[in-house]
This record gives sequence, structure tokens and C-alpha cells, in this order.
Amino acid sequence: MPSLKNFGEGLLRGLKVTLNHAGRKWITVQYPEQKLNMSRRVRGTDIIWDRESCISCRACERACPVQCISMAVSRGEDKKLKTDDITIDFGLCIFCGLCIEACPTGISIYLGNTYANTNYRCSTFAGAKTGATPSDGRCREIVRANDELLVDDAARPRSGYYRPEIAAALPPQTLLVNQTTYIEDLRKRGQK
Ligand code: SF4
Ligand code: SF4
Repeated sequence: MPSLKNFGEGLLRGLKVTLNHAGRKWITVQYPEQKLNMSRRVRGTDIIWDRESCISCRACERACPVQCISMAVSRGEDKKLKTDDITIDFGLCIFCGLCIEACPTGISIYLGNTYANTNYRCSTFAGAKTGATPSDGRCREIVRANDELLVDDAARPRSGYYRPEIAAALPPQTLLVNQTTYIEDLRKRGQK
């Protein structure tokens, strides 16, 4: 049976460990409110399409190994091809990046660097807002079409995957920098 002395020692030892950790630099973030910058070339769970530069050649659609891109293309009055409709089913997409590599303009379709499409409630998904109720029971936000694919801002940034010019302009890989700093801190304290 443990003595009162042993119990007190254990308590103090535990308190010391807690205090040691309390003074350390945080290496975690309050996800999902805060997110770390991913690698510049991460293949994120997102695809961004640029209507302005797209020449409606459908090379991306043909390159997709799981056929999750659907495009409706027609000829305008100037006889040029134009995209009337583009849909990507992110429930099927395997984020292989082949559509990005196939694009002849080099700037019309690229991966985002979103790494988790999380949401607290189903009611906040895009499809729920528009009243869409899929017959197969899948959440509508995994299917994005037209304007939903155009967003390119700080909340939904681009990945530099297959696009070195984009990669060069992206912020540092803080995920790796943080880990390196943490390991250096441990070394300085003789704990590694
Ligand atoms: S990343 Fe791959 S699976 Fe996803 S849309 Fe592009 S080609 Fe298809
Ligand atoms: S491959 Fe590029 S240019 Fe061709 S349709 Fe797709 S996004 Fe547009």
C-alpha cells in the first residue's frame, strides 16, 4: 500500500512536469480556427479554376483518371470555345494533379492548399444553404461548380504544386519551421 510520503512525492513530481510544460513554447494551434501553412507544393483538397485564362479545351476533363470533372463547352458568337459549365466532384477526386499537368495554358486550373474541408455542422455546408438535398445522401459541398471553383484568396490559397512561379510567391513552410525550432529548443535544454 503506498505511503502518504510516496503519494506526496508523486504529486510533486507530477506538478513539476506540468509546470515545465506550461512554460514551453506552444507547438500546436487551435485547429480548426487556426491553421498552419502547408508545404508550398502540397496537393491540397481543393481545386481552383481560372475562367479568364481557360480556353475550354477539356484537356483537364480527359486527363482525370476518375472522371470527376464535367464540362459543358459551346462556341460563342466569335466562334471561340467557352465553358458554360464546369463541375468537380471532390468526393471522387483523388488530388492526383493530372488535370493541372494537362492544362495547356499552365494557369487555368491548379490545386489549392486546403488540407481539411472541415465544418462543425452539416447546415453550414454550401449545399445546405441552397437547399440542395442529394438523393445519394452525400454532402453537396463536395461537388463544386462554376463560381465556387473560382475563389482564390487568403482563405482559399493556391498550392505551388506543378506551378513553380506560384510556389515562389507563397509563404514559408511554417509547419516544418515550427518543428525544427521545437527540436532545437529541446537540444538546447539537453532533452534530445
Ligand atoms: S486532381 Fe486528379 S482526380 Fe482530381 S480532378 Fe484533377 S485529375 Fe481528377
Ligand atoms: S485544361 Fe486548362 S484550359 Fe483546358 S479546359 Fe481545363 S482548365 Fe481550361
